[in-house]
This record gives sequence, structure tokens and C-alpha cells, in this order.
Amino acid sequence: MDAALGPPEKMADRADDLTPMMRQYFELCSAYDDSLVLFQVGDFYEAFCDAAERVSRLCEITLTKREDSTGTYPMAGVPIDNAESYIDTLLDAGYRVAVADQVQDPEEATGVVDRAVTRVVTPGTLTEDELLRTDDNNFVACLALADGEYGLAVLDVSTGDFYATSVARESAVVDELGRFSPAEAIVGPDAPDLFADDCMVTPYDGAVFADDHARELVAAYFGDPDALLAGDAEISACGALLDYAEYTRGAETDDGAAPDDGGASAASVDGDGAAGDDHGRLDYLNHLTRYDPREYLLLDRVALESLELFDRRAVHGRAGATLAEVLDETACALGGRELKDWLRRPLLDRDRIAARHDAVGELTGDVRTRERLHDDLRDVYDIERLISRVSRARANARDLRSLKATLDVVPELRETLADADCEKLRALRDRLDPLEDVRDRIGRAIREEPPIEVTEGGVVREGYDADLDDLRETERSGKQWIDALEETERERTGVDSLKVGHNSVHGYYIEVTDPNLDAVPEDYERRQTLKNSERFVTPELKAREDEIIQAEQRADDLEYRLFRETRDAVAAEAERVQAVAEALAELDALVSLATVAAEHDYTRPSFVDAPKHVDIRGGRHPVVERTQESFVPNDTRLDADRFFAVVTGPNMSGKSTYMRQVALIQLMAQAGGFVPAADADLALVDRVFTRVGASDDIAGGKSTFMVEMTELATILDNATERSLILLDEVGRGTSTADGLAIARAVTEYVHDEIGARTLFATHHHELTETAVDLPGAFNLHFTAEQRGERVDFDHEVRSGPAAASYGVEVAREAGIPEAVVERSRALLDADEPGRGDSDETANGHRPDVRSNGATADGDSAATDDAADDTADGAADSTDVDLAATIRAQNLATTTPIEALQLLHDLQERLDD
Ligand code: ADP
Ligand code: MG
Repeated sequence: MDAALGPPEKMADRADDLTPMMRQYFELCSAYDDSLVLFQVGDFYEAFCDAAERVSRLCEITLTKREDSTGTYPMAGVPIDNAESYIDTLLDAGYRVAVADQVQDPEEATGVVDRAVTRVVTPGTLTEDELLRTDDNNFVACLALADGEYGLAVLDVSTGDFYATSVARESAVVDELGRFSPAEAIVGPDAPDLFADDCMVTPYDGAVFADDHARELVAAYFGDPDALLAGDAEISACGALLDYAEYTRGAETDDGAAPDDGGASAASVDGDGAAGDDHGRLDYLNHLTRYDPREYLLLDRVALESLELFDRRAVHGRAGATLAEVLDETACALGGRELKDWLRRPLLDRDRIAARHDAVGELTGDVRTRERLHDDLRDVYDIERLISRVSRARANARDLRSLKATLDVVPELRETLADADCEKLRALRDRLDPLEDVRDRIGRAIREEPPIEVTEGGVVREGYDADLDDLRETERSGKQWIDALEETERERTGVDSLKVGHNSVHGYYIEVTDPNLDAVPEDYERRQTLKNSERFVTPELKAREDEIIQAEQRADDLEYRLFRETRDAVAAEAERVQAVAEALAELDALVSLATVAAEHDYTRPSFVDAPKHVDIRGGRHPVVERTQESFVPNDTRLDADRFFAVVTGPNMSGKSTYMRQVALIQLMAQAGGFVPAADADLALVDRVFTRVGASDDIAGGKSTFMVEMTELATILDNATERSLILLDEVGRGTSTADGLAIARAVTEYVHDEIGARTLFATHHHELTETAVDLPGAFNLHFTAEQRGERVDFDHEVRSGPAAASYGVEVAREAGIPEAVVERSRALLDADEPGRGDSDETANGHRPDVRSNGATADGDSAATDDAADDTADGAADSTDVDLAATIRAQNLATTTPIEALQLLHDLQERLDD
């Protein structure tokens, strides 16, 4: 962002020569010197001087000039009615926008109209519906450093969601940030910039991080800081973030304080500056969620991206759905955000997980209840954002009606849940407070379809306020009198063509055409002469008209006051409204999970105590199965003795899909959902790590060897024996020898030192031998079949390693001359020590029946048949020997090269 958007020095120097309005503009610019000031002049927001040039360039609007007695200033203005879209453009360009509104009626102003910054719009503190995604949170983060601890606070200003935690290591800060992906961050003194590229980062004035100030704010909003939070770093981060939230809300009135730069750098936000303590309190920020990162399954940014939870552009650059999309059958925005939050923070507490599973199970089995809940939830408005607007005095009458409409469905939801069995649903029903008082008050005060504008009447219901009704009655009877006037005056004058009309300049008039002017009575006063007629008023008409106008004005003012009283009364109940919103959100998320489970044949996973246990039968990839005509389910079995699987097989055979489906099933289960499998028994996972190699994210264009190694380092550094690691190609970005060496060393380290559940897909065939050497490791593979020109994949995972010479086989089938194929085989054998030695090969690739339940039955049956045939034909001892050797082969896992080798050996023995 361009620093120092404030007035050019010379402007400040010549403040005395400026007109009062321009002086006001430059003062606001200095007070909000980190922002671009949009300054209300009538129906436009204007920017002047160099700010005008930027606005004009970025928003593609004409640069004009303002000329006054003191000089000429470049000027660019955007219409207020359409301001949000321009503000959006300016935000995209990296600016904050301070909106300075006229806060005084121009007619009442003696000199220049009072203006004040009523909000500072920043990427992380948006509250305008037009600028926000309804289905996701928008966070601003704050990072503070104290006593060697990092305090992190994260806030969604539009909903009031406020989280705080502290961690000891930078890498843990990065992980937590990955969860929230804040759009903006403020950092305290000495705190490192650990934020992603798309996050706007601002160093913030140290004073607001100071202990006293931070404590005061936390105490004012949430209560005793020491009871709620752990340590100074957290308190400091929370306090500073509250300060910033107040700052961006803008001043309620212009206190006209001189800018106070407090030694802060030009780009820093001077939180204690001009806006002072006059910022409005944000009453809806009343609940702080302090969490320990260890309470949730940790998914860092890399994992979120490679598993395509929320963002499908990140990895493959190809179109397709995200996990969040395929699981989202929510009916309202509240539920949509809740579901995302569950996926972002899967649980580690088996009771909490089971509570969600119970609810999903009950709803899965009861279509009628599920559909009734879903239908009612569709009438639920985004009352979380709505109540925050109410608290910030930005809600209009329609918002209040939307709140009422939402509360109207609550009794029905309670009714539908009346027979709920499980504890979770029953608790939700109890938490669904219909807020009768709030609903009743809005219902009585606010009309059913009020206008958006709240100051021009038409908002308050009849019968709500006697004074208002009187004024409306005066207005009405006055208008009736005028309506009848034409008739009365025609009778009085005998002029049948006499007309009563109204225009905005002269108000009401009586019009008489020229031929009839003789009949005009004495009390008519001439107002206007037209071509063929004259217009008149009478004293009584004037009096009636004034009465109407006054009554109208007073009624509008009174309505506005009554509206604000109602809004304030609702704001006072913000906490209760938020509690209902939370219950609605949870209910919607559960109904959504149940709907998907029922429609896509998911099952309830169970959690077991056995360490490293993964037993998935018929597992599917929740996203790929939706795009695939037929998806082949696969099993996965890991346990404390065999927890490291090396997955080999040709390109496109299904390795990546298989590994990801295991991770997705695990995290869906811990998020409280059912899973795409026939059956799943799992042990809790504390963290999912992913490393997706060069071959898979070339489209992302960022997979340098260095990135790969950095990610790998993170895994080796942080994984525990309760983690799940997916390694999808490691060491591709360097030479084969290097890559293989690294892959081997990583395998050994993870196996020996960490002991984490791991699936490692690799093109390094040599790694399958390492897997054989390590007791906790085993091989899985996928195969392909050449059918004419086509390679067919059955996508079925099998025990044992893939054929090493698959490529050579394909080459032969494609018609490469036999001599070349032979030479390739020879080279391959020379390259892979041990492969030529039949004993070692047989040993090394001994199939292990325990390793996988998916071993195709057909294959082993074929083996038995072959063995029987051979036995029948056995005649002498050589034959018996050969038969035994052949019988010992498991064809399901024998590679073509091994088969050739075997054939070669057998021939040699026959020759002997
Ligand atoms: P690899 O990692 O082995 O190159 P992928 O996992 O990327 O292979 O899978 C390639 C494609 O094969 C996927 O995009 C998908 O269309 C299809 N596929 C993978 N697994 C299955 C499966 N189990 N059933 C059906 N199709 C699958
Ligand atoms: Mg792959």
C-alpha cells in the first residue's frame, strides 16, 4: 500500500489560506493518514489532490477540478448511492478507505458542515453485505509477542466471532493463521510478519498493545482478562484487535482533535490518534473463544490446499468441487459458515465427535424430520451479521423484519425437534429460544415491508404510538380536505373546468382557465400565469398545506426516533440473538451432514482406542466419486505394527486419489460427519500433513525443490505418532539419485523416529524394497492394463509393489523393436541392484497377505488353479521341484520382470 496518503506538506503549511471545507478535508486526511479519505460533498464522496488522481485512475472515473478562492484542486468523486463498488476497487488495490460523512444537516450548519469518519473500510473488517461472501467468514488477525510467546487474536467483525490463542513457535502461528486465512492483520512491536501474501499487514502503534490499555479493553468487552486468557501475549493481541475494531468503526462524532502522530511510522495506524476515545463501542462483541490449538485436528495451509477443502484453484488449477462444496447442503448462511468452521477445526474429543455423529445418525434415519428442518431453516436470515449491524446502528427496518421472520420459524423448529432422541438435538432445541419479547417488539413497531430508508417515514406501524397516529391523522385529513377541494370550489365558483393540482415548486394550487377568470372569488391569490390559465391559492389552502407538511415532517422524525428506539432495544438483546444464531448454525450444519450422508450412502465412522488404527472398508473419495461415472471403492488397513504404506503404480492409476481419500475420511469423521465408506474404524489423528510433489502441482507453478524440502522439514519437525502423513512424491525436483536418497531417508526417519501413520506414493520403485526392510512398512500398488492403444486402469489397490518394468512392457506392446526392449530390461536390471538376484527378489517382494484386505480374490483363485494344473502334470522330481517353485509364486504381486526372471531360472534348471 502506498504510505502517507495524507496532505502534501505544503497543504498543511498553508492551512490558514484554505477554505474551511478544504481545511476540514486535509485535517481528516492527516487524522486517517493510513487511509484514503472519501469526503462527502452532497451526493458524492470526493477525493482531492493526489488522492483524487489515484481514485480517478483506479476507479476509472473522470478527474475534475475544484476551484475556490484559494486555488484549484484536482478532484474525483464517486456517487454515494453506488459507493460500495468503488470502495471494493480501492480495497483490491490495497487501500484502506476512511469514509467521512456529513454528520450535520447542511441547512442547520452555520459555517462548513460537520463531517466525521463514520467507518474505515479495510479488507479484514468489512461489514457491508455487498463486500462480503455470505458463506464464509472474513477475518482480521492480530499478532503480539510477549515473554517469548505469540498471542494471536482473530476476529470477524461482521459476525462477532472472536478467537484467541497463544503458541510458542513461529511455525505454530503459521499453522493457526492457515486455518483462518485472515484478509488483514495488525502486528505489534517485534512481532514477525508470518502472514500469507494475500493478507494486508499493518504494523500497529505499540501503545495499543501495552498491557494496561489491552487489559482495559478486554475487561470492558469480555470480562476479567486473567480469567479468560492465558498470558500477556494473548491479552495484548485481543486488546489491540478490539482497539482496531473500534478504530475502523469510525468516530460517532467528529471530535476535531488534532492529529497526534505519537512517533508511529507513516504506514502505521495511529490507534490513539485523532479518533480518540470517541469510537463507538461494539456491543455485539461480547463473546471470546479462547482455544488451545491442541483441541483441534490441525490442518495447516498446505494441507488445506492440497486436500482441496475450500479452494480448488490452489493445487491442480483444474475445475472441480471442493470438499466444502460437496458437503454443503446447508439451508442458510449461518449453517454454511458453521460447516466450514467444523471442517477447518475437526475435533479431537471423542465425546464431542460422538455427539455430532449421534445427531447426524438420527437425522440421516428420519427423512421427514430432516426435510422439515431444512425447509424451515431456509427462512433463516443471516442474523449473525444482522445483529452486528443492529449493534453498530447500521441496520435498517428491513433488517429488523428479517430478524423477526427468522424468530418466527424458531417455534416450528422446536416443534420438529420435540421428539428428538439424542442429547445433542435436544440441547439444540432448548437453546432455540424464540425470543418472544424481541420478536413481539419488532412485530408491533415495524411495518411488514418497510422502505430501506429509515428517515423518511413508512417504517412504523399504525397503533404503535399514539402521537405518531395523531400526526398521520392530521396529514390524512388535510389531504382528504384537499382532495375534496376541487369539488367544493367548482360548486362555489360554478366553474366546472376548475382544477386542483400540485407541483414541487408552488405546492398546491387552484387552476382556472382564462375564459372563467371572471368567476374567481376574492380570496383567491394569484400565484402563476400560464398560457391559457391562471393558478391561485387561498389562505385556507395554504394553512392546510402547511399543516400537512409539518405533520409529515414531525411524523418522519418521530418514526425515525421510534425506529432507533426499537433498534436499540434489539441491540440490547444482541447476546441472546447470537445464542439463537449459534444454535441455528449448528442445527443447519448437522442437517446438512445428514442430508449428504443419506443421499450419498455414507456411514457412521467409529473411533477406537487402538493406536494408529485405520480400518476403512470400501472407502471412496468424497469429491472424485461425484465427478466419476463409477468410482472403485478401496480398503485401507493400518495399525501399530503396519502403519507405513508405500504406494506404487503407473501414472493415473489412482494413487493420489487413494491417499487423499484416507485423509478426507479421517477429517470428515473428526469434524462430526459420516464418511464415504462401507465401514470405518479409526483412531484419532492430531494432525494431517501433506506433501504433494512436483508432478502434482506444476500448474501451481510454485513447486521448487526448496518449497518441497521446506514442507518436508515442517512435517519431520512437527509430526507425532498420532499424525497422519500423506507424501505424494518426494524428491522429484532433483536428480534421481538425490531424490531416491531423500525419499529413503525420509521413510526411515518417519518409520523409526516418528511412527506416524503414513501413505507414501512414489515413482521411486526402489522404495518398495525399503518398505520390505522396515517392519512397520508395507507395499501397496495400483496396476494398469494395456488394451490395444489404450491403457486401462481398474483403480483397485493391491498388496505388494507395482511392476517396476511397467514402462518397458508398455513399450513392447506398443511395437518397439524387441532388441530395444531387451536392452531396456538389461539396463533396468543393472540400475537396480538386487533385482537380478532371484533369491533376493523373491524375498524382497514376498506378498504379505496381512497388508491389505483389497487383494483381489480372483487373482489368488487364479494362483490356486495354476498350482493344481501343475500338480496334476507332475511326473518326476524335477517336475515336482519346478511345481513347488511355481506354486510359491503369488501372481497378484509378481511383476513382469520377475516373471521373466523366474521363467529364465526354470529354463536353466530344466537344462541342468
Ligand atoms: P495417480 O496419482 O496414480 O497418478 P490419480 O489418483 O491422480 O492417479 O487418479 C487419476 C484419475 O483416475 C483421477 O482423476 C480419477 O478420475 C481416476 N480415479 C482415481 N481413483 C479412482 C477410483 N478409485 N475409482 C474411479 N476412478 C478413479
Ligand atoms: Mg498422483
